[in-house]
Amino acid sequence: MSESHPRVLILGGGFAGVGAAHELADADAEVVLVDRHDYHTFQPLLYQLATGLLENTAVGHSLRDLVERQENASVHKATVTAVDFEGREVKFDGLEPIAYDFLVLGLGAEVNFFGTEGALEHAFPMYTLPHAVRLKEHLLERWEVAERDPTLVEDGALNIVIVGGGPTGVETAGAVAELYRADFAKDYPSLPQEQARVVLVEAGRELFPMFKPKLRDYTVKALTERSVEVMTDTAVASVTPTRVTLKTGEELKAHTLVWGAGLQGNPLVQSLGIDLQRGNRIGVGPDLTLPHLPEVYIVGDIAAIADEKTEQILPQLGSVALQSGEHAGESIARRIAGKEAKPFRYRDKGTMATIGRGAAVVQMLGGRTMTGRKAQVAWGTVHLALLPTNEDRAKAVVDWSGALMTHQRVGRFTVESE
Ligand SMILES: Cc1cc2nc3c(=O)[nH]c(=O)nc-3n(C[C@H](O)[C@H](O)[C@H](O)COP(=O)(O)OP(=O)(O)OC[C@H]3O[C@@H](n4cnc5c(N)ncnc54)[C@H](O)[C@@H]3O)c2cc1C
Repeated sequence: MSESHPRVLILGGGFAGVGAAHELADADAEVVLVDRHDYHTFQPLLYQLATGLLENTAVGHSLRDLVERQENASVHKATVTAVDFEGREVKFDGLEPIAYDFLVLGLGAEVNFFGTEGALEHAFPMYTLPHAVRLKEHLLERWEVAERDPTLVEDGALNIVIVGGGPTGVETAGAVAELYRADFAKDYPSLPQEQARVVLVEAGRELFPMFKPKLRDYTVKALTERSVEVMTDTAVASVTPTRVTLKTGEELKAHTLVWGAGLQGNPLVQSLGIDLQRGNRIGVGPDLTLPHLPEVYIVGDIAAIADEKTEQILPQLGSVALQSGEHAGESIARRIAGKEAKPFRYRDKGTMATIGRGAAVVQMLGGRTMTGRKAQVAWGTVHLALLPTNEDRAKAVVDWSGALMTHQRVGRFTVESE
């Protein structure tokens, strides 16, 4: 440790990294937070940005703002290129190397196309703020172009295929269907709404396999009522800018393919010389450190954290990321103060997802379930807690209630750079 203030280097300003930084606010430490962006992304709302319901500032939050009142913390915008565990130093693109006494690695995960032909070039993933903005602008552009040349409708310009029957795919499909049927129907009255297909494709037998059968049935019904075509047991083989080919050989005319089907650990993990678990995640001990490297904490989506009771690997969720990041921050603060750190214990708030306006599903730890508006309120309450500050929570309540009440997709316009 350096003389008076040990340096805690936090890599990644997601739920995990920000949670760690906040828990270190009163620690006798120098806290350095580095992210390749200067903002924190609230990923659960990306689909609402992509469909114009929320604006950028409801989904992205300045990282400097988030630690503004924390005197011992600073933020740098730089990309991590290498981690030297032995030399306790991290290298960056565009920033001098930074040495550390404690390291918190919270670099998250990235999309996994599972080698699907053409997906890297032509699919629209939904993992970052630029992804959501790009999808929104592409959808707007396709409707504009089709309005000028209606023959493109026949070619599938308005059709959208969404891959993945988990929360990302289902939430995106529901929101796109509402954008099409409620807003674009009014915005582009000359275009034939009934020919604009929203197709949700899932390789497995069912949507939402983590939920009880009655919640799965509710989900399919809610999507169908919103005119989403659900295709299960169906996998995508390849994609071009205008066609999606299924593994059955069937070809769908669609100028948009959204990918919400899989994740893998941040690519940097390949260079760390550590054995990786399923999905390129890093296995950690009960205190979230690496075996033989007690100064290195691995948190959030990049980590494979076993639940202390069930021993199952915890899912890649905001609440797991936040709680694991907070645990790392708290443990480091305790160790700096000469106290012992405790093992990590995850507090499960239930599994939940929204499908559309007034439609959501919740399954609590004990097996209790909720659907509809009640479930949507529960979703809102749990996700408010994920927001980093009280100001963000207050702003979100205004944004979310406004969007829910008026259902106006005020963000459905494009800002071109000149
Ligand atoms: C579309 C979508 C919807 C979701 N919905 C929900 C939901 O409803 N409820 C829920 O609980 N969870 C949801 N999740 C999951 C949840 O968002 C993640 O589990 C959570 O964001 C993980 O947090 P994290 O801090 O581990 O990683 P991230 O939030 O991914 O943060 C990682 C950070 O590291 C930075 N970074 C990455 N690589 C580098 C590098 N080389 N150099 C510097 N910085 C780097 C990134 O810029 C990013 O800021 C959703 C996820 C997605 C994608």
